[in-house]
Amino acid sequence: MEKIKMTTPLVEMDGDEMTRILWQMIKDELLCPFIELNTEYYDLGLKHRNDTDDQVTIDSAEATKKYGVAVKCATITPNAARMSEYNLKQMWKSPNGTIRAMLDGTVFRAPIVVKGIEPCVKNWEKPITLARHAYGDVYKGSEMKIPGAGKAEIVFTAEDGTETRELIHEFKGPGIVQGMHNLNESIESFARSCFNYALDTHQDLWFATKDTISKKYDHTFKDIFQEIYDKEYDARFKEAGIEYFYTLIDDAVARVMKAKGGFIWACKNYDGDVMSDMVSSAFGSLAMMTSVLVSPHGYYEYEAAHGTVQRHYYKHLKGEETSTNSVATIFAWTGALRKRGELDQNTALSDFADKLEKACVQTIESGKMTKDLALITSIENPVVLSSEGFIKAIRETLESLL
Ligand code: NAP
Ligand code: MG
Repeated sequence: MEKIKMTTPLVEMDGDEMTRILWQMIKDELLCPFIELNTEYYDLGLKHRNDTDDQVTIDSAEATKKYGVAVKCATITPNAARMSEYNLKQMWKSPNGTIRAMLDGTVFRAPIVVKGIEPCVKNWEKPITLARHAYGDVYKGSEMKIPGAGKAEIVFTAEDGTETRELIHEFKGPGIVQGMHNLNESIESFARSCFNYALDTHQDLWFATKDTISKKYDHTFKDIFQEIYDKEYDARFKEAGIEYFYTLIDDAVARVMKAKGGFIWACKNYDGDVMSDMVSSAFGSLAMMTSVLVSPHGYYEYEAAHGTVQRHYYKHLKGEETSTNSVATIFAWTGALRKRGELDQNTALSDFADKLEKACVQTIESGKMTKDLALITSIENPVVLSSEGFIKAIRETLESLL
């Protein structure tokens, strides 16, 4: 078979620990034998980030703006323990945070559904994609403990010095207060990312807030979504035969539990934080969650939802066999390759991505899987494979599909 050619490079962001090991295996076994892989490589491994004073992360985000599509391996977000482990010059920021800030995007997370790994919610037949707004609210809040009686107010001082005040509470005794904010610009780009992703993936979009109680804050989210939808997306959604629907967060939660899946659920920052863990664990495993950052400017960055699987890496370093699930990392590659194929009208590339995904699903459904899945599968007598053995099994299935 002739190798598939790529006209435009993918931005490749390498990473850390066990996922870095899987990264290389995936390229060697599942990509390079079939594609003339054309990537612009950035090493976001912690050592190289430290060596370059984290410039490499910025360069990789710039490259994503240039080419439009990136695939990222999981990376270490340094903490105190990593400072000494890697002898770091400083506690570098999370690469995901840096990249997100530069590309201004929304993160979409969707489970990979296979027969034999059933969701706890039995009516969920199709994946539910969660779109989390990743700016502001309680994550950028300021808080205060109120020691005793007194008046707490919100004060806005305009540039010309005029003050606007709103009473929070007349305290009679001790209590607590919190102030938080968001930006119209950020909410607008959140909305556009969600609408674009719904069109891209041909799924309905749900959005919910608590606008009945929060008549200015949450209501602004609702209004901005509706305004942008009416002006820019209504006709395109109708043409695509998909729906945008807004409801109260309580109602959304109740409906999600009764739904069949197959839609995108857009959530404010806190709701998305909490609900994405619920949805992903109900679907089975973090190792079966894809994640893509979609920017309103049309840039895409694909990755796995899980981290670097540090515990397995230490076993690997000791020469012990590991059984780490590579599916979410493979799907990061297929997501990026398919998008590259779409943008370049390279059907062969998109078709390959589809087949590789199919190969992953079929391999698991045939009973061959890693330990994390073997523990939860309803398939009887699953064959538990090593990290490498699983990738080789996927290759066999892939070759039979090509
Ligand atoms: P993690 O790497 O997601 O792993 C947590 C646990 O989940 C693992 O120990 C393993 O459980 C299980 N697991 C996750 N992925 C798996 C896979 N592919 N196959 C099998 N089991 C899997 O989270 P962490 O240990 O909290 O974080 C490790 C490092 O990752 C940290 O330095 C953190 O900063 C970084 N991180 C990066 C990203 C990112 O780049 N997007 C996201 C999250 C965390 P068992 O040990 O029980 O087998
Ligand atoms: Mg969380």
